[in-house]
Amino acid sequence: MNGLNIVVLGAGLMGRLVAWSLSRLGHRVQLHETKASDQHGAAAWVAAAMLAPLAESAITELNVVQMGRYSLQRWPELLAELEHPVFFQQDGTLVVWHRQDASEAQRFSAKLMDTAQRMPELNAPVALNAASLHQLEPTLSDVFQQGLFLPGEGQLDNRQLLNALMQQLQSSHVELHFSSNVSPEQFSHADWVIDCRGMGAHKAWDNLRGVRGEVLRIHAPDVKLSRPVRLIHPRYPLYIAPKQDGVFVIGATEIESDDTSPASVRSSLELLSAAYSVHKGFAEARILEINAQIRPTLPDNLPAIRIHENKYMHINGLYRHGFLIAPAILDAALDLMEGRSDLAHSLGISVLEEAP
Ligand SMILES: Cc1cc2nc3c(=O)[nH]c(=O)nc-3n(C[C@H](O)[C@H](O)[C@H](O)COP(=O)(O)OP(=O)(O)OC[C@H]3O[C@@H](n4cnc5c(N)ncnc54)[C@H](O)[C@@H]3O)c2cc1C
Repeated sequence: MNGLNIVVLGAGLMGRLVAWSLSRLGHRVQLHETKASDQHGAAAWVAAAMLAPLAESAITELNVVQMGRYSLQRWPELLAELEHPVFFQQDGTLVVWHRQDASEAQRFSAKLMDTAQRMPELNAPVALNAASLHQLEPTLSDVFQQGLFLPGEGQLDNRQLLNALMQQLQSSHVELHFSSNVSPEQFSHADWVIDCRGMGAHKAWDNLRGVRGEVLRIHAPDVKLSRPVRLIHPRYPLYIAPKQDGVFVIGATEIESDDTSPASVRSSLELLSAAYSVHKGFAEARILEINAQIRPTLPDNLPAIRIHENKYMHINGLYRHGFLIAPAILDAALDLMEGRSDLAHSLGISVLEEAP
């Protein structure tokens, strides 16, 4: 299969990855994005881009964990093919909690232990005491005397990735159409139409809903953290994802809503207070951005690929796991285009086929 005319809709995370991969396979690819080239409509632009299969197993199904594990191996291979470097690290996740939240932490740890037992191929969580916590993140040991370390978990820089993919699309002569608000039926002449519009595809999925996430980007050069830190809290669970050059992404709220209006004062206060309770160095940080976006989510909170007429493929429902699972979804989608479903089945990716 090569030399096909393929139209990809949506230049967010999946759209860019799919368009790039298909052009490398020798197809003629058009990519349509509803936003202008200097605007950002993708959930992927505001995300923290943590790659944390074990941490996420506290709230998700084992097949997502499986997709995440597969993707953690694939990301370095994919990033190595890009001309522009993308910050990626796999130094684990640190989980901490304040003393009064110990019972919540116990529940969380028990879930992770259960996942590790059911999937022995994952690195098991490691309980930390004051000394071992100090070794990992010295600046946190004043506040926390215990924690949990999840070895092997990762993160990447979402914006560097999106920019690097766009540069790659430009240099590989993918036809780029910005300010192009489109739907799949407009491209019946194409050999394949791949719909990666996230929330923009709500008419193609009866049951797609938005889960709003609010997140801050701050500059805190005095805060030294080497890896993403998660704070367990009954009301304000929080993550702090350190990027390069003293930038941190702090998030995120999880609100059942399609509302894309700016972040609320309440959410911003809660996120910032929780971050300050983890590290007092955030007091002098500078707030670069406060963002709100919606995570495209299906009723079971799991991703799905739907195919009909052997030419329309809809990829959606990546919810809060887009970066965690994108390489798995990408590889499964490319295989499905060639009539192979083994990978999708082995990773538990839901493939919905509709009669023409
Ligand atoms: C606050 C927040 C934090 C997150 N943190 C993480 C994290 O740490 N780890 C993780 O794995 N995931 C995280 N996610 C989830 C991740 O960002 C999403 O799962 C992922 O971006 C979904 O990818 P997508 O390509 O399906 O949709 P998107 O990235 O949203 O892209 C969809 C694109 O389609 C375009 N579009 C819409 N309608 C049309 C149309 N009619 N025509 C053309 N184009 C259209 C949009 O403008 C957009 O560019 C987070 C999300 C949020 C909101």
